[in-house]
Amino acid sequence: MDVCLFCKIMEGEIPSAKVYEDENVFAFRDINPQAPTHILVIPKTHIPSMDALTPENIGAASACLLAIPKIAAQEGLMPGGYRVVSNCGPDAGQTVHHLHFHILGGKALGVGMA
Ligand code: 5GP
Ligand code: ZN
Repeated sequence: MDVCLFCKIMEGEIPSAKVYEDENVFAFRDINPQAPTHILVIPKTHIPSMDALTPENIGAASACLLAIPKIAAQEGLMPGGYRVVSNCGPDAGQTVHHLHFHILGGKALGVGMA
């Protein structure tokens, strides 16, 4: 899907600060970080959001979850910890319609969730 910003980033058409890549997953630094460490983890398969998960594409999405602790270790986020967020739809403020997980860390984060 060539109109998708994150597909373009994954394919290298738009530059990004890559932090991790494997067969199924691409991860890069958020352009507008909300914490000292703010990384976006995306499946290489284009899935619009959490709401579009199916038994057929869950493998591509769950590969992101397996990658997250590896990225956190690489970034030195443990043992301090980190937060993982996936915004889905307008009320959650999703602005890019390619499933992504935010990894936030590098400081003590606020206790509020919403
Ligand atoms: P959402 O609001 O959809 O959950 O998150 C989208 C994220 O993508 C935002 O945190 C935003 O800063 C980030 N973002 C938007 N455009 C770009 C870009 O061109 N490059 C990078 N690295 N991040 C982007
Ligand atoms: Zn995409």
